Amino acid sequence: MTEDQELFSQILANMKKNGTLRDASRVEEAYLLAKEAHGGQLRRSGEPYINHPLHVAIILSELGMDEDTVVAGIMHDVAEDTEMTLEQIGEKFGPDVAEMVDGVTKLTRLTWDGGKVEQQAENLRKMFIAMARDIRVIIIKLADRTHNMRTLQYMSPEKQKEKARETMDIYAPLASRLGISKLKVELDNLSLKYLEPEAYNRLVMEIDRKKLSREGFIDSIVDEVKAKLAAAGIEADTYGRVKHYFSIYKKMKTQNKSLDEIYDLFAVRVIVNTVQDCYAVLGIVHEMYTPLPGRFKDYVAMPKPNHYQSIHTTVIGKNGLPFEIQIRTHEMHHTAEYGIAAHWKYKEGGKAGLTREEEKLSWLRQILEWQNEMSDDSEFLSSLKTDLNLLSDDVYVFTPTGDVKVLPKGSTPIDFAYMVHSAVGNRMVGARVNERLVPINYQLNTGDRVEIITSQNTKGPSRDWLGMVASAQARNKINQWFRSQNKEDNIDKGRDLLERYCKAKNVDMSELLKPELTEKVINKYGFLEWDAVLAAIGHGGLKEGQVVNKLLELKKKQDKRTITDEEVLEAIAENKRQPLKKTNNGIIVEGIDDVAVHFARCCSPIPGDEIVGFITRGRGVTIHRTDCLNIINLPEIERGRLISVEWAAAEEGKQKERYTAEIALYAKDRIGITADVSRTLAEQDILILTLRTYGNKQGISTFFITFETEGVEEISKVIQKLYQIDGVFDIQRTVG
Ligand code: MN
Repeated sequence: MTEDQELFSQILANMKKNGTLRDASRVEEAYLLAKEAHGGQLRRSGEPYINHPLHVAIILSELGMDEDTVVAGIMHDVAEDTEMTLEQIGEKFGPDVAEMVDGVTKLTRLTWDGGKVEQQAENLRKMFIAMARDIRVIIIKLADRTHNMRTLQYMSPEKQKEKARETMDIYAPLASRLGISKLKVELDNLSLKYLEPEAYNRLVMEIDRKKLSREGFIDSIVDEVKAKLAAAGIEADTYGRVKHYFSIYKKMKTQNKSLDEIYDLFAVRVIVNTVQDCYAVLGIVHEMYTPLPGRFKDYVAMPKPNHYQSIHTTVIGKNGLPFEIQIRTHEMHHTAEYGIAAHWKYKEGGKAGLTREEEKLSWLRQILEWQNEMSDDSEFLSSLKTDLNLLSDDVYVFTPTGDVKVLPKGSTPIDFAYMVHSAVGNRMVGARVNERLVPINYQLNTGDRVEIITSQNTKGPSRDWLGMVASAQARNKINQWFRSQNKEDNIDKGRDLLERYCKAKNVDMSELLKPELTEKVINKYGFLEWDAVLAAIGHGGLKEGQVVNKLLELKKKQDKRTITDEEVLEAIAENKRQPLKKTNNGIIVEGIDDVAVHFARCCSPIPGDEIVGFITRGRGVTIHRTDCLNIINLPEIERGRLISVEWAAAEEGKQKERYTAEIALYAKDRIGITADVSRTLAEQDILILTLRTYGNKQGISTFFITFETEGVEEISKVIQKLYQIDGVFDIQRTVG
């Protein structure tokens, strides 16, 4: 048998042992295809390349991963290094395998500046998980890295250090998070060997020497414990072991101790059948030896986040030497070694399989909680496809110098620019993503490298940007800029520009600057007063032509009182055939006085809002705000159904109508903020209908509040009050 044939038969043997083999010929086909695809390629060691993916598949089959993962492991370097395409892999082995190979290839291509790894490790680990889509991709990548670390001696010394650093900072913690201590321990030890070769070799030697001198001691303890447990009728596997080099090294480093001062170099492990037995063993052990105070840890009752369970206790032996005892069940032991991988082979199981699947999902949930951003989408969690990318609310992108920035999903280069610095955002004129020029509203993807183009000559951010950003931070900084620009000279300049424009276009400005028209413009652009509009024109945030055209449009609408569109008339006729209710909602519909009126849920218009009616098929007229997205995006063919409507003046002595409105409030997170918000609303006699709040890890809370109100005037009063709450920095009416 050739070497690769031997490796292949080892894969099959592992899969048979673990019960994961479904179709041996399929695995063999992968092996033969990969061997052919890699052809004459050699590794640095001089071995045929095919040995590497086979070793990776051996690791995966040892972990008990399902057949698809093992097949993907065999094929993992094929798409990157050979002629074979993902489509071909998909045709042969199905979409799951092709997707996993694709995922591994993408992660392989992800490169980062070696010098930044340490400080950026946490973000890089998150990025890794966000990019992997399927958690099995990470497990393949861990197996890949494990074999590469085993064969690191063939690399140059610089490459060895770089890979070892990356492994210690990124891969080993990922293995730990997934609970796969079997790989974590090996990755840690191998990293240490290349990063601190002298310390590592000395440690190995010293521990070997200690092992010899203490072998008798540990053996005698194991014998004693065995005898006691047998007498108590407890079935158990009891053995002594040396702790892992890396964990000892870490302890010496962090606690600044010499090897002689580390008293739990050696440990006794007791593996039993039931949880009950665990505690029975604990009782017996504490009777035999004196427990060291403060050294007892019950991870059975309180599992670690990565599902590790065990009881740890340090006791003092007869000759005064302390040692650690770990007690766990066989199942806990399996989970401790294989972590999330331990739960894969049960995928197609029957009854037991179901709980395993749930466990696996709760595991993923914990990984995501560790990511700190997680929408509680339980419906999604119950689906089996572990699309982490969808679950993650963040995108991870690189700065030109290789730093990782975390932004909310949907972020654009504008968000990025303001995250770097407000000065960068305010001077931004364009952006490059992955060395290509992109529009500034380009949606960033995880892994993108973003570069902001700035200019000293820019007039600053534009108001449109508020609609393009996804982060509260960017929105806040843009608003701040506009507020700071709201100065006297800008107001004067704006008034001047407006006058000149009207003169040039031969527009009578005094006709336009009537409160009923300007108020609507103030509202539309989200200002509080006309001076703010002028200031915005003054510093270039708004174009004077834009404002004049809007005023003209409003005036035209006001002047025009007849319906011309035949289609509209037809639609009204259709409505008239039905018994119609009187409009008692405070709305006047142009040309008709007897029509059912509903308020659109999407934008909840209230008196003071600029509104438009939509003639529905058989349900009367629905009232929308003119800035409602559903109206803005209305297909051309439906536009004929729009009809002018307006608010009726409030009748004297009659009780005012109440309307529902929603605002979004952004605030710096602090204790009591929710209470302050609801108290302020109560003080304003506002009846809250719903209040939802979301936190994010930048420490920003978002509140969505729906409440009853008389109209826009009341809302702006309420908003002013809310702005006075400590920490609140932005409030907006939501748009459907
Ligand atoms: Mn590889």
